Amino acid sequence: MISSVLPTYSRAPLSFVKGEGSWLTEADGRRFLDLGAGIAVNALGHAHPALVETLTRQAQSLWHVSNLYQIPQQQALADALVDKTFADTVFFTNSGTEAAELAIKMARKYWYDKGTPRTTILTFEGSFHGRSTGAIAAAGSEKMTKGFGPLMPGFQSLPWGDAAALDAALDDSVAAVMVEPVQGEGGIRPMPEADLKALRAACDKTGALLIFDEVQCGMGRTGRLFAHEWAGIAPDIMMVAKGIGGGFPLGAVLATENAASGMVAGTHGSTYGGNPLGCAVGLKVTEIVSDPAFLDEVNRKAGFLRQKLEGLIAAHPDSFESVRGLGLMLGIKCRKPNTDLVAAARAAGVLVVPAADNVLRLLPALNIPDEDLAEAVSRLDAAANALESA
Ligand SMILES: *Cc1c(COP(=O)(O)O)cnc(C)c1O
Repeated sequence: MISSVLPTYSRAPLSFVKGEGSWLTEADGRRFLDLGAGIAVNALGHAHPALVETLTRQAQSLWHVSNLYQIPQQQALADALVDKTFADTVFFTNSGTEAAELAIKMARKYWYDKGTPRTTILTFEGSFHGRSTGAIAAAGSEKMTKGFGPLMPGFQSLPWGDAAALDAALDDSVAAVMVEPVQGEGGIRPMPEADLKALRAACDKTGALLIFDEVQCGMGRTGRLFAHEWAGIAPDIMMVAKGIGGGFPLGAVLATENAASGMVAGTHGSTYGGNPLGCAVGLKVTEIVSDPAFLDEVNRKAGFLRQKLEGLIAAHPDSFESVRGLGLMLGIKCRKPNTDLVAAARAAGVLVVPAADNVLRLLPALNIPDEDLAEAVSRLDAAANALESA
């Protein structure tokens, strides 16, 4: 008989009753170091006191009102994001997928309103933009699309890191290019700064809108508030989710006034998106994470972790090959199957996340203490030892 929860996940045999900082605890008291952080969601760890305080205070006054009314918490978060980024305007969603949907609609509407409808959106092999019918068509990988056709037309997937293919595809029929500055699910693959710059220039040449999916790599994850800042360029449209809510479901689409010009009253909406509860929490997360001193600490911790991981890899050439990524969005390319290493790590009391290309993903809370990082790496060392002697 089918389980009462639709069995679309193969779940680990773990069940947590409490989260505190970077630690998760099971009912029997067993503790795990959480280096997955809900897949880059718990940006400030579990039960951060300032977030608990903000959430409970807002919950006592007002949870939800419709977007038919003014929502000051939403306005405040939008103002903060506009202040700290390239964007002129923000729409709030509940998830990354919902942000992808709006990004796609916004790009198409932009060209429709110009009277020269362009519909094609270029994406990249290995990308992940969510699980809606639109988002799976955008990513295009068979793993996500098989059996769900016919797919929404208008997407063309390009090989990763192939400038010639991009050049050939990016003509005057292209509405937009959608890319993760650092691929997450695809195996922690940063797009080199030079490629990001070249992509910006190529889009400027044809007028194509540049959409960055920073759902996973944004909100301080790479040591800048948004990953594209490292390259000194900006998109026209950006998708944000995961870390921005610190665990509360919240996403956003940020855009320039020009890119958003087609999205007038009545063209889009969301029942829950931008509710007072989510936006109050999102504002607190944004305030904490965008503080330059906080981001300096993310970069320092990232250097510390990376150095420890280089040592781990050197000690276990049979298990691990190399480390890659940016900031606290790191991937270990494995020699042994990454799923075996995830299981061995779990048995050693540390939680990591698999990604494509046989990679282990490390996405710790951005405020994780150094001693927790050191402990996590020593547990990964124990996991590799156990697997190698099995
Ligand atoms: C997780 C993710 C999404 C989808 O976000 P959901 O909140 O799961 O809908 C989209 N893009 C990227 C890069 C992601 O990592």
